[in-house]
Amino acid sequence: LVSRKWRVRPTVLDLGDGVRIGEGNLTLAAGPCSIESEQQMELIMQHLVDNDVRIMRGGVFKPRSSPYSFRGLGMEGLKLFHQMAQAHGIKIITEVMQVSQVEEMHDYVDVFQVGARNTQNFNLLDALGGVDKPVMIKRGISGTLEELLSSAEYVFSGGNEKLILCERGIRTFETASRNTLDLNAVPILKEKTHLPVIVDPSHGIGIREYVPTMALAGVMAGADGIIYEAHEKPEEAASDGAQTLNFQESERLIRNLRKVYAVR
Ligand code: PEP
Ligand code: MN
Repeated sequence: LVSRKWRVRPTVLDLGDGVRIGEGNLTLAAGPCSIESEQQMELIMQHLVDNDVRIMRGGVFKPRSSPYSFRGLGMEGLKLFHQMAQAHGIKIITEVMQVSQVEEMHDYVDVFQVGARNTQNFNLLDALGGVDKPVMIKRGISGTLEELLSSAEYVFSGGNEKLILCERGIRTFETASRNTLDLNAVPILKEKTHLPVIVDPSHGIGIREYVPTMALAGVMAGADGIIYEAHEKPEEAASDGAQTLNFQESERLIRNLRKVYAVR
C-alpha cells in the first residue's frame, strides 16, 4: 500500500492552517530534543514564528540510552506545549513511545513521531494505524529501507494513510560521527513510495557544525523536508546539545534551505 505501484501520485498531508507536507512543499520542523520548560518553549516558538517555520519538534517522552538521563516532562509538558503552540499558530510533532500513550497524547499532537528505537514496535504501529493523525516513522538505528517500508505498511494497512518517512542516520562502523546519515535513502524511498520523505541531519550526523551541510544535502537529494534540533542555548540543553543549532545557526540554515529548495 505504501508502494508507488499502489499509488502513483505523491501523498500530500494537510495539517490545517495552510501547513502541508509532501510534494511541492518544503517542510521545516525545528525545536529542542526535549521540551524543558515554558520559558524555553516561548523562546523557540518565537524563533520559529519569526522565520515562518510552522512545525515545532520536541520530545516529552524521551527514549534515553541511560535510565539516569532526563526522560522528559511527560503529559504535563505536552499539554503546555500544545497550548502554547496553538497560541503561536504552530503545529507539534512529538514522540510516542508506547501503545498506552497514543490515546492520551492524541488530542495534543499534530504529528506522532515513532522513534528509531520503536520502528519495529509492531504493537505501537498497529495502534497508530487506528488514529486519524499523521505519523512520522523514523528509520531504525540498524534498520534497512525495506524494514522501514514494512513498518509504514503496518500503519497504512491499519487504516491510517497519513504517513511520513524519516531518514535519521544508521549505525555503521564509522565512529567519526554519531550515526551515518544515509542520503541514499532519499532517492530510493522517493522512487519506491508515494509517501513524503524527511531528513533529520541532527541525529544523522550528531555534530552541530555539520548539521547545516547535511540538511542542505538532504534537500538536494530530494527530501520533502528537514527536521532538526534547535535550542536557545544548545550548551545547556537537557539532551542532544552537541547536535543542536542555536538561533543564529538555525536562521541561516532556514534561509539556505529555502534557496536550495527553490533551485533544485
Ligand atoms: C529525537 O528525535 O530526539 C530522537 C530521539 O530521535 P531518534 O528516534 O531518531 O533517535
Ligand atoms: Mn534528540
